Amino acid sequence: MIIVLDGPAGSGKSSTAKAIADKLHLQYLDSGALYRAITYQYIKAGESSSLFDNLDKMNLTFNYDAGNFRVFIDDEECTAAIRSKQVSGSVSKVAANPLVRKYVNRLMKNYASSFASIADGRDLGSAVFPDAAVKFYLQASAEVRAERRTSEMHQMGQEVSYDEVLQNIMERDRIDSSREHDPLRKAEDAIVVQTDQMTFEEQVALCIQHILSKTSHTT
Ligand code: C5P
Repeated sequence: MIIVLDGPAGSGKSSTAKAIADKLHLQYLDSGALYRAITYQYIKAGESSSLFDNLDKMNLTFNYDAGNFRVFIDDEECTAAIRSKQVSGSVSKVAANPLVRKYVNRLMKNYASSFASIADGRDLGSAVFPDAAVKFYLQASAEVRAERRTSEMHQMGQEVSYDEVLQNIMERDRIDSSREHDPLRKAEDAIVVQTDQMTFEEQVALCIQHILSKTSHTT
């Protein structure tokens, strides 16, 4: 079984998906982290696009461990490094590449065929898992999303201003929504959750209520 949460940057998808995964004993799959890991490697390789022709040679592995989605390239853990400003600034460009999308989609489908999972992303309900058991689309204004992201980054010890984060979020929204391959899109059958006015606990409880009523899954 796969449940998907799509939505723009900073809409609260990953924290919501993790809380649901923990409450319902599901595996969590962070598709953005996989795009970020490829971007991290691309920057490390001097931004050479030959990386995209050789993705099968990249040993990208991941697991969900005690509330933490961990990502490794070969033996190097890059879980923290993929959240840098530099990676955030380039990831949407890298994620627009069709070879990159094909590779990430294959990794995700393999994972979801082995574990009951909840995944978050941009195009999961519309392009990657059209038959997902439940689809959510999380929305919030760019300003609310930027406020949440800024405080998350401050908690991780990153020096960043609200304006910088807002600009990055708006630019990523623009690229993610207008790209040719699998743009950010609400699947027709997705349940829209508008999170501006909701507490975190409320949005998690609402999603769980929908999952329990639409699947045979139990807590
Ligand atoms: O979720 P997060 O903000 O970490 O994702 C990083 C970037 O990866 C997004 O801005 C988007 O460009 C890309 N992405 C994507 N498709 C997904 C998930 C993320 O294009 N399913």
